[in-house]
Amino acid sequence: MARVPRDFGPVVRLEAEAQGVPGRRTFRLLIANELELASLRIEKEQLQALGLAIEQLLAQVEAPAGEGSVPSGPPAGFETFALPVGRLGLGYDEASDLFVLVVYAEETPENDPPDLICRASRAMMKNLSRQIEEIIAAGRPRCPLCGAPIDPEGHVCVRANGHFAPP
Ligand SMILES: [Zn+2]
Repeated sequence: MARVPRDFGPVVRLEAEAQGVPGRRTFRLLIANELELASLRIEKEQLQALGLAIEQLLAQVEAPAGEGSVPSGPPAGFETFALPVGRLGLGYDEASDLFVLVVYAEETPENDPPDLICRASRAMMKNLSRQIEEIIAAGRPRCPLCGAPIDPEGHVCVRANGHFAPP
């Protein structure tokens, strides 16, 4: 029997979060409606890709008058569940002017339905993409020569003809 995805409906909170020291950070997507909070473990590359996808979609979809506001603070009295993200899908529903985010868990097979579906306003999506941008930028220190992030193990710099720069 096919699983039925958890449908969070319109969410009241959609945020990205980084924990830990630069270069060793872990990342989460927090999705909450009035009753539940999902904490999704996500890789930095996935987060970065999501940020780009949001920006591209926001640019494609014309904004109607007024963008709405972003609710702040978590709602009270919700359940929590955690999920490692495998794949993400992003769409836009013109009828409701809401963005649709679908989440497939790491272990979910290719052709199975998603594990979680939620909808978020344009303002919340903009807020999320800004957060992702800040999180990505606040990561590893940048190389003063080429601007690429320097890993804790050091950095092979294209501007220094491939010479290895220690961290
Ligand atoms: Zn460099």
